[in-house]
Amino acid sequence: MLKCKGLVALSSDLLDGELTWKQRIAVRAHLAMCVRCRRFIRQLRISQRVIRQLPDQQAPDLEALLKAMQAQQQRGAETDQGNAQK
Ligand SMILES: [Zn+2]
Repeated sequence: MLKCKGLVALSSDLLDGELTWKQRIAVRAHLAMCVRCRRFIRQLRISQRVIRQLPDQQAPDLEALLKAMQAQQQRGAETDQGNAQK
């Protein structure tokens, strides 16, 4: 079963539509039962959309933004350690 950390690790591929079908199923199953990750993915989608609408010269530091969000999510997931990634 996919854990929060695993989901965060897959999140950028998820948004890029680059997951395998197995990963997509695991992600969906996890999102169905994890409010925190649903919120996280929704935030990612929103920021991605906002950033895409900006002209290039005004683009904020997307990498830094995503890293900050992922770090925040991972702090919240610290009690959820295990075998999320093999
Ligand atoms: Zn989760």
